Amino acid sequence: MNYDLSPEQLEIQQHIHEIAQREWSLDAEQWEKAGAIPHAVITQIAEMGFMGLVIPEEYGGNAYDTLSLILVIEEIAKVSASLAICVSVHNSVGAWPILAFGTEAQKKKYLPRMAEGMLGAFSLSEPDAGSDVAGLLCTARRDGDHYVLDGAKNWVTNGANAGIFTVYASTDRSKGSKGLTAFIVERDTPGLVLGKKEEKMGLWASDTLSLTLEGVRIPVENRLGEEGAGFKIAMAALDGGRIGVAAQALGVAGAAFDHAVRYSTVRKAFGKKLSEMQPIQWMIADMARRLEASRMLTHRAAWLRSTGQPCARESAMAKLHASEMATFVTHKAIQVHGGYGYVRDYKVERFYRDARVMEIYEGSSEIQRLVIARSLLRDGVAPF
Ligand SMILES: Cc1cc2nc3c(=O)[nH]c(=O)nc-3n(C[C@H](O)[C@H](O)[C@H](O)COP(=O)(O)OP(=O)(O)OC[C@H]3O[C@@H](n4cnc5c(N)ncnc54)[C@H](O)[C@@H]3O)c2cc1C
Repeated sequence: MNYDLSPEQLEIQQHIHEIAQREWSLDAEQWEKAGAIPHAVITQIAEMGFMGLVIPEEYGGNAYDTLSLILVIEEIAKVSASLAICVSVHNSVGAWPILAFGTEAQKKKYLPRMAEGMLGAFSLSEPDAGSDVAGLLCTARRDGDHYVLDGAKNWVTNGANAGIFTVYASTDRSKGSKGLTAFIVERDTPGLVLGKKEEKMGLWASDTLSLTLEGVRIPVENRLGEEGAGFKIAMAALDGGRIGVAAQALGVAGAAFDHAVRYSTVRKAFGKKLSEMQPIQWMIADMARRLEASRMLTHRAAWLRSTGQPCARESAMAKLHASEMATFVTHKAIQVHGGYGYVRDYKVERFYRDARVMEIYEGSSEIQRLVIARSLLRDGVAPF
C-alpha cells in the first residue's frame, strides 16, 4: 500500500500552500470582519483554475482528481475556512452535478462560465426540512415546456453571489424522496427572491442566504436529470461534498494544531515551556493522532471517488471523523493558549468557531452515522 502523493499532487499542494499563505493569510481576518470575501479574490481563484477543479478541460476547467481537489480545499482552509467552503461548495455540489447528470447543452452552457468564476450554489435545505430530505416542501409543477417552482429554501452557501443555483423540488409529493427533481435556476430568473444573510457563529465571510421561489418559471431544458432523480443527484453530489467538508476540517484543525504547537514552545509557566509539560504534550499527541486518522479516511474516500468506486460510506466516515476531530483539535488549541485562546487577537478563537458547523452542514454527524450504519447493515461490515 502506497500512501505517497503523486509528484503532480505534491506540486499542486505546494503551489496552493504558497499562494494561500502569501496572498490570503494576512487578509482572511479582515474578510471575516467585513463579512464577505472580496470579489477580486474569487476572480483570482478562478484565474488560477480553482473554480474548475472538477470541470474537464473541454469545458474550460482543469479536471483535478478528487484527492488533488481536497488538497486544494485543505490548504485554503488553513488560512480561510470561509473561502474554502466557497470553493468546495462551488466545485463539489455546484459544478459536479451538472457535469455528472447534465445534458451536453447544459454542460456547454454552464460549466465554462463556472470555471471562469460564476459561482454555483446548492439549494436542498428548507426551513422545515434539513436532514429529512424526503420531507422537502418546495414544489415544481409542469406547465407546458416549463416547470413552475414555489417554496422556501434556506442555508444557501454562496447565495449572495451565485450565478446559478441547483434547486431541488418535489414534482410528486406522494413519492417522497423519489418525487424530487433537480433544476438549474439562473440568478436573475423572475420570482427567485434572495433573502437575508444569516448572522452565524463562524464563517462570517461565507454568505449563507435564504431563498424564496415565487412562481419561478424554469424551462424544461434546465431540469437536471430525469423527473424523480433529484434525491439520487443530491446524494451523489454530497458524497463528494462530504469529502470536501472533511478537507475543510483538516485545514482548519491543521492550522489550529500548528498554532498550538508553536505557542507551546514559546509560552512559559512555572519556569518552563508549556511544551515541556506532559499534559500539554498529551494534548499535542491526541490532536496529531486524530488529525492523521482523519487524513487517512479522507484520502481513502477521495481515492475511491477518483477511481469511480462507490464511496458513500467512506465519505460519510471521513466527514464524520474529520469534523468531530476539528471540534476537538480547535477546542484543545484554545486550551493550550489559555486565556489568550479566548480572545480575537489569536486565530484559534476563529478556528474554533469556524470548525463547529462542519459537524452540521452537508449532513449532520447523526446523519453520517445513519449513512454508515445503513451501508454496513445492507452491504456487510468488511469495508476493504
Ligand atoms: C453555515 C451553513 C451552511 C449551509 N449550507 C448549505 C447549502 O449550501 N445548501 C443546503 O442545501 N444546505 C446548507 N446548509 C444546511 C445544512 O445542511 C443543514 O443545516 C443540515 O443538513 C441539518 O439540517 P437542519 O438544520 O434542518 O437540522 P434538523 O434536520 O432539524 O436536525 C436537528 C438535529 O436533529 C438531528 N436529527 C435529525 N434527524 C435525525 C435522525 N433521523 N436521527 C438522529 N438525529 C437526527 C440532527 O442531526 C440535528 O442534530 C447549511 C447550514 C449551515 C449552518
